[in-house]
Amino acid sequence: MSGVGEIGGAGVLAAAAVGLVTGSFLNLCADRLPRGESLLWPRSHCEGCGRSLGVWDLLPVLSFVLSRGRCRYCGRALPWRYPAVEAATALLFALLALKYGLAPAGAHLALFAALLVLIFVLDLEGGYIPDLLTLPGMALGVGGGGAVALLTSGAAGVLPAVKGALLGLLAGGGSLFCLRLASRGGVGWGDVKLLGMIGAFLGWPGALLVLFGAALAGSLVGLAGIAAGRLRWRDPLPFGPFLSTAALLFVLL
Ligand SMILES: [Zn+2]
Repeated sequence: MSGVGEIGGAGVLAAAAVGLVTGSFLNLCADRLPRGESLLWPRSHCEGCGRSLGVWDLLPVLSFVLSRGRCRYCGRALPWRYPAVEAATALLFALLALKYGLAPAGAHLALFAALLVLIFVLDLEGGYIPDLLTLPGMALGVGGGGAVALLTSGAAGVLPAVKGALLGLLAGGGSLFCLRLASRGGVGWGDVKLLGMIGAFLGWPGALLVLFGAALAGSLVGLAGIAAGRLRWRDPLPFGPFLSTAALLFVLL
């Protein structure tokens, strides 16, 4: 484990800066993936007036603050999700760098965190978790875990790391799959694959702990919602945001 002394304040700041830019890209993905639009074209534009946005409109967090949350050209209010995702990703990357160093373990977990942030937003806003993220995420968890082990502890570390990741994938996906059967579809396929992906990164104890934490948090939020009169007993609550948050907390604590 590395501390600030090892990677330095500059390293933490660099990680935060990469996090800001990554958060900005995650916002773009969250806007375009549900509509099946290309991530590369066209250039970023205002959803209201269609004006292409320049460098000054795309500075993470800062542009939002300077323009008081409105489009400079047509005055349309921009979603709070933009600066929130950018700031959260920057904070996560800085904390991961502090705890795990910059590479290779820190970089692997930063990719994991970026995927979780995007899944959190997509499930909260649209109620779905795309295979386009969870299936490559599983491969990244297993393959990346093997690569990190190779770089940090040599060839001997690869097999145990890959085995651990595969076991985590099975435990995570398998446990939610059983819950899906028991609840007769109350748990979505997207959640099953998401916990499989989380297990591929965190191993089987991590996957089960994340499931437990997410179920507990989900029940508490659901009960609070019912008590406050904002939810009814049969209302579905997306589980992805709880799984993502629990996985991020597991990585950081
Ligand atoms: Zn506009």
